[in-house]
Amino acid sequence: MYAKRLDNLPPYLFARIDAIKAQKRAEGVDLIDLGVGDPDLPTPAHIVDALCEAARDPANHHYPDYLGMLEYREAVAKWYDTRFGVKLDPKTEVLALIGSKEGIANIPEAFVNPGEYVLAADPGYPVYKTSTLFAEGKCHLMPLLEENNFLPDYDAIPKEVVRDAKLMFIGYPNNPTGTVAPMKFFDETVEFAKNNDIIVVHDNAYSEISYDGYVAPSFLQASGAMDVGIECHSLSKTYNMTGWRIGMACGNKDLISAFGRVKTNIDSGVFDAVQKAAITALTGPQDCVKNACAIYQERRDALVSGLRSLGFNVFVPKATFYVWMKVDDSAAFTEKMINEAGIVVTPGNGFGPNGEGYVRFAITRTVDRINEAIERMKECGLRGN
Ligand SMILES: *Cc1c(COP(=O)(O)O)cnc(C)c1O
Repeated sequence: MYAKRLDNLPPYLFARIDAIKAQKRAEGVDLIDLGVGDPDLPTPAHIVDALCEAARDPANHHYPDYLGMLEYREAVAKWYDTRFGVKLDPKTEVLALIGSKEGIANIPEAFVNPGEYVLAADPGYPVYKTSTLFAEGKCHLMPLLEENNFLPDYDAIPKEVVRDAKLMFIGYPNNPTGTVAPMKFFDETVEFAKNNDIIVVHDNAYSEISYDGYVAPSFLQASGAMDVGIECHSLSKTYNMTGWRIGMACGNKDLISAFGRVKTNIDSGVFDAVQKAAITALTGPQDCVKNACAIYQERRDALVSGLRSLGFNVFVPKATFYVWMKVDDSAAFTEKMINEAGIVVTPGNGFGPNGEGYVRFAITRTVDRINEAIERMKECGLRGN
């Protein structure tokens, strides 16, 4: 009864973890969930108000524009200019997405022929690989190694793979490693893409979640990036709007147009009231973003110092709300954490083979809960070397 392509499709990582969590909760365990990257903070009130107002207006109850309301695309273009100094034509270089996951999941349909390669970061956001499989492309994983600061090494990709590669997925600030990329890396990426005719899809969901004064760039700031790529961005992490499902793809107009053609045949856009609220988010006061980062930074510091006091080897992220930590065995550590300490973390190997030997903590819980997690780990004898 099932299609063959389902055989190649792993159960979605977080759906699998959700099942284990549900079982533990049913057993009455008070779980501290540092697993999935979903902000615990609410969407700022002025954005919720804008939604409520727009939802009451029957003018917003119809099928939305496929590409996104022009006002939304204009707000995105203005935000990109203010934030990154990147100039975009809202009519041709911006496309509304039903969250960036939707964009990442559908982009290969527009560009990848069966058997062509897609290069994807490993560890990486799981959808890079599965969207490739849906398009019947072949996925070549680019290892993100600690010795390369968790950046891919383009010279290490076999020549025949590069020759047949059509598209690549990368994303910095990075989920799951929490690493950031220097502008030089984006310049090298543009050069690699131009030399080998590869479309770059940069996943920039975390550009606004950063610490210690670090300001993340857009891939589109790199010289020549607009010739070779698209950036997927989202309001999910920036404004705590994961449930709202709105994002944007920006970049090369021919790529945006081809991708838009796919989308018109799949979905019917984002609810206009959500787009209006997103306009409010992008054009309104931005202190809500700064406040959220201050909260995450305090949690990051609590978690990092707690884990270090237990002897663990952790990386201090300059951006994203993830802490990447070395362990002996990803699955064994994750199981011990949930079974003995009631703490949910994500096994690194769920993000790809090169995530083996790591786990990811999401700092989407309060400092008190994070401190409690550290206490529980201590009591359970969960220690590093
Ligand atoms: C959260 C996330 C996304 C998806 O976000 P949406 O809610 O679909 O906009 C995309 N990429 C990465 C790396 C993420 O962590």
